[in-house]
Amino acid sequence: MTKPIIELRDVQKYYGDYHALRGISADIAQGEFFSLLGPSGCGKTTLLRTIAGFEDVSGGTVAIDGKVMEGVPANQRPTNMVFQSYAIFPHLTVAQNVGFGLRRAHLSKTELASRVGAALEMVGLEGFGNRAAHALSGGQRQRVALARALILKPKVLLLDEPLSALDKKLRENMQVELIKLQRQVGITFILVTHDQEEALVMSDRIAVMFEGEIAQLNDPETLYRRPNSRRVADFIGVMNFMPAEILSERGDQVELEIAGLGRVEIPAGHASSGGKGVSVGLRPETLTILFNGSDTPDRVAEGVVEEVVYYGDMTYYDVRLNGAAAAVRISMRNLVGRPVLEIGTRTRVSWSPQALVLFR
Ligand code: ADP
Ligand code: MG
Repeated sequence: MTKPIIELRDVQKYYGDYHALRGISADIAQGEFFSLLGPSGCGKTTLLRTIAGFEDVSGGTVAIDGKVMEGVPANQRPTNMVFQSYAIFPHLTVAQNVGFGLRRAHLSKTELASRVGAALEMVGLEGFGNRAAHALSGGQRQRVALARALILKPKVLLLDEPLSALDKKLRENMQVELIKLQRQVGITFILVTHDQEEALVMSDRIAVMFEGEIAQLNDPETLYRRPNSRRVADFIGVMNFMPAEILSERGDQVELEIAGLGRVEIPAGHASSGGKGVSVGLRPETLTILFNGSDTPDRVAEGVVEEVVYYGDMTYYDVRLNGAAAAVRISMRNLVGRPVLEIGTRTRVSWSPQALVLFR
């Protein structure tokens, strides 16, 4: 990793008796797009606010750019925050909103105008400077909030669920724009989100948080493919959990009996179950329904379609494999000429031992 811009060491936060942050440690690299992902109430905003300096830590340290931030007020940290509610001033113009943070910088009129113009251009709002802020759409307000934060040239931009108020289409567009913007300006972004898809799409690395602790910190692909616990696996995407029995263990290999899939030998891995016994996880796209004419792969199970959910580009099938207690979810692309199966259809399903994640 390149030099960390943020170093969190055993960060603790108490609100009275309530232990909101329980020993958070992480390094965030210069220029990284880093996300804090977790359910509501797990401490994401609290952690962001301790980095920004809006909250004191109860223990541990936050260092930014090599300097421990203890006692450094928010306005003297090289960070800037974009809030969930954009908090823009409706009675001011767009340009006045964006230039607000520079009002004490004693810039000449022309210099201020050029900085504001550059910031507006960055977020795709060139020409909107004289518009009244109250006359903007939700997406445009979010851009104003971004421009207002970027104009101060922070080393780290902290974003607390910045897109959560936008509708789905606009949110997806803004996700892509934010990624491009981050690449272009090259500063570190720390994004808070409870939306796992958003975190996967946008981040270089993601810290998954539960109850004030980081449960797993990895790049999106590792998090998705190799979740280190059932809880993380369950929180990110869809995961089929199938009960399994360990038959034998040799070195790093484990031989399992899985109801519905049969016997298989896989690497033991490192995942932990959280006390629900041994199980394996399989993502819906790693199971494949074999239509007529499909290749015959080595691992095939048989079952009956119990539920069909049609999404246009995809269909989700719940298939009860012979000998299994519950159905597994399988996602299939809807190709031209491929039928959508009906409930009750007997079908063959191929799967790959490589895709199995062991939880124990
Ligand atoms: P998230 O952003 O992940 O939804 P927060 O960081 O806002 O979670 O809150 C984490 C926990 O700390 C929650 O249980 C919340 O109720 C509590 N909390 C947050 N801020 C305060 C506060 N100022 N006083 C007391 N409890 C708080
Ligand atoms: Mg929050």
